Order: sequence, then C-alpha cells, then structure tokens
Amino acid sequence: MDLSDRVAIVTGSGRGIGAAIALKLAEVGATVVINDVGDMGPAEAVAEEIRKMGRQSLVIPADISDSSEVARMVETVTSNYGKIDILINNAGITRDQLIMRMSDDDWDSVLGVNLKSVFLCTRAVLRPMMKQHWGRIVSIASIVGLIGNAGQANYASAKAGIIGFTRTVAKEAASRGITANAVAPGFIDTPMTQHLPEERRQAMADQILLGYLGTPRDVAEAVAFLASEEARYITGQVLTVDGGISLGKM
Ligand code: NAP
Repeated sequence: MDLSDRVAIVTGSGRGIGAAIALKLAEVGATVVINDVGDMGPAEAVAEEIRKMGRQSLVIPADISDSSEVARMVETVTSNYGKIDILINNAGITRDQLIMRMSDDDWDSVLGVNLKSVFLCTRAVLRPMMKQHWGRIVSIASIVGLIGNAGQANYASAKAGIIGFTRTVAKEAASRGITANAVAPGFIDTPMTQHLPEERRQAMADQILLGYLGTPRDVAEAVAFLASEEARYITGQVLTVDGGISLGKM
C-alpha cells in the first residue's frame, strides 16, 4: 500500500480512532490534515508525530457540523496542497438516552455531528475529486447502525444514515473514479467507550467472538486499505470491524 502524493483529511483526528487513522495513512505515505474542535493540543501532537515520520501535516480546527466551517477547511486544504484525494469522515459523538427521555437537543446534536457533517464534508470534497477523476471517501459508521442499540436511537439513526448516504455517493461518483465505503466498528477501546461503566464494558466484551475489545489501529488498517489504490474495485460497501460481535455468540 502506497499513499505517497495523496492528500487526506481525517475529521475528528485529535484522538481515538481518528488519530490512529491519521497516523496509519501517514505511515503509508500520505499528507494528512488533522481536524478537530475544542482543545487543539492533542491534534497538534498527532500532526507533530506525522512530521517526525517525514510526512506533511496540517491542523485545521473546524466544527464539521457547520457548513461554513467545512467550506473554510476544504478551501484551506486545496490552497495549501492543490488537491484532496482522500476524505475520512470519522468525527462522532454520543448523547445516550432512552427514546422517551431523549431531548430534541440530544437528537439534533448527534445527527448534526455524526450525519450532517458527512454530507457537508463529502459535498465539499466531491468537486475537487471529480476534477481529478480520483477520490476515496471512507465514513466511520458503527455496528449500532446495522443492529440498533437501546439508549442510542440518535446515534444508531445517524450511523444507519451514513450507510445509505455512502451507497448514494458510490452511485453518484463512480463514473469519476471516486469510491465511497463505510467501516462499521464494533466495540473499540477509545475515550468514547472508556467513560462507560465497567460492568457495561465487560458485558459488551463478553459478546465479542474474538474475546477482546478492538483497538483504534484495528479500524485504521481497514480504513487505509479502502483508501488505497488496491481497493479501487470496492465501492458502496460496509466493512464490519467488530471481532465478530455482530454475529452473536449462538
Ligand atoms: P472519540 O475518542 O470520542 O473521538 C472523536 C473525535 O471527534 C474527538 O477528537 C472529537 O473532538 C472529535 N469531534 C467531535 N465533534 C466534532 C466536531 N463537531 N467537529 C470536529 N471534530 C469533532 O471517538 P472514537 O471512539 O475515536 O470514535 C471515532 C468514530 O468512530 C466516531 O464516528 C464513532 O462514532 C465511531 N465508532 C466508535 C466506536 C467505539 O467503540 N469507540 C464504535 C463504532 C463507531 P473533541 O476531543 O474536541 O471532543
């Protein structure tokens, strides 16, 4: 796998799965744009690690649920590097609550950051990708978008939405050499899952066929493959990276 000369944006890549994806893409040669919101310290540290590998990296703070911030981010990338080859829609949040207690804000914020952002970022990169007749869009969904999860109606809806959106992008952009795929992780050890109560983490771990939680790197390996030339004939697919949890133990 060789991504030299490729320019990639990874949303929400200051930590967790996004940081692992950014580092993996850089490892195989890509120039990587690190995006995040809030405290940019961790994002700067990821960019620094990439520069130490001898690759280029740029940190762009932007709330990717905001249309004008996404437009500014993409403009900054094209004016710095002249192109965008790879978009990884990774940023995501959770606001868990049973449906009866879920507020409008819990719903809107999760749909905004997890789904609207995927539309905004994809729309913004499609033109430059179409012009160059090459592009890779990989969006991080979740097995929850395939099988549902009590307490996560907002999150499951957003992740299921990513899958429908991805298949539509695949149809609209295939003739221009652009592929769009989704990766659906299971239970991955990151700050998003580390705040769950220990008994809930254990209960989920007990359901994993391989017997252990995934690492951000496990997801990053699958993403890098889908972003590569080697995956040129794969589009509109959902690749589950879940240690077998979605099969069930029976
Ligand atoms: P994480 O550790 O919480 O990291 C998410 C990153 O996204 C953070 O750096 C966060 O920034 C950033 N972010 C949040 N809102 C943003 C916004 N509006 N604009 C730009 N960046 C934003 O989560 P993770 O576990 O690595 O998850 C990454 C992706 O994988 C998400 O889409 C998640 O739904 C998906 N996923 C995770 C798991 C799992 O088990 N961990 C399973 C399935 C799918 P701040 O640091 O400022 O909050």
